[in-house]
Amino acid sequence: MARQEIEVKGCVTTLTERLADVEKRLQDACLRSGRRREDVNVIAVTKYVSVETAQGAVEAGIRHLGENRWPDSKDKWEALNGQAAFHFIGSLQSKKAKDVVGRFAVIHSLDRLSLAEAVQQKAALLGIEVPCFIQVNVSGEDSKHGLTPEEVVPFAEGLAAYPLVKPIGLMTMAPHETDPEATRYVFRGLRELRDKLNDGIFRDRPLTELSMGMSNDFEVAVEEGATWVRLGTVLVGQ
Ligand SMILES: *Cc1c(COP(=O)(O)O)cnc(C)c1O
Repeated sequence: MARQEIEVKGCVTTLTERLADVEKRLQDACLRSGRRREDVNVIAVTKYVSVETAQGAVEAGIRHLGENRWPDSKDKWEALNGQAAFHFIGSLQSKKAKDVVGRFAVIHSLDRLSLAEAVQQKAALLGIEVPCFIQVNVSGEDSKHGLTPEEVVPFAEGLAAYPLVKPIGLMTMAPHETDPEATRYVFRGLRELRDKLNDGIFRDRPLTELSMGMSNDFEVAVEEGATWVRLGTVLVGQ
């Protein structure tokens, strides 16, 4: 087992121990919010770590890996494709969509129709559908990518032109806060937006998923309804 000396809450040091610690915290967050643990999926974000560490995570039972650049993830993809599903979690240039579609199971950062068009083109070549999260900037921070909540309905209307781009949920990133409780409004806002869309434009094809919560704030995100948490530092290190 890959051994890494990374200080995470308490004195957890190995991957197995970190996984157990995260698991306990996920279970507690589910318990506090009356949710089922099996409704929360874990993506190990391996963008900062080696192929060996990513392999260790998969050996330890992780089935979803998150990466934000194709060139940096290529070696991990070649080693682990088939054993784990790859999630594209970074901002994606339209011209790079062709590298990602067909390799990554899900794109978490759909935020422009020009990107949807590029995804559609490659998906049509391959004859596949591409599950995507629509990225929303709930906090309004300038540094964050994503649509404003108001832009989502017109964007969803525009997506009708790209039938192979299949929206499955919403994704957001919360601002980094020392007190994770301060991020709760972001996660709650994303859930409420999802519910509102499902009563309206997505009534016939509801968005079931919420991709939200990172190392610093995943417990709050789970309490607010996350179905996918994206964990780097706390799980595999940085
Ligand atoms: C890097 C990254 C993560 C993981 O961040 P940690 O704080 O290390 O858990 C999650 N989501 C996105 C979009 C990222 O870029």
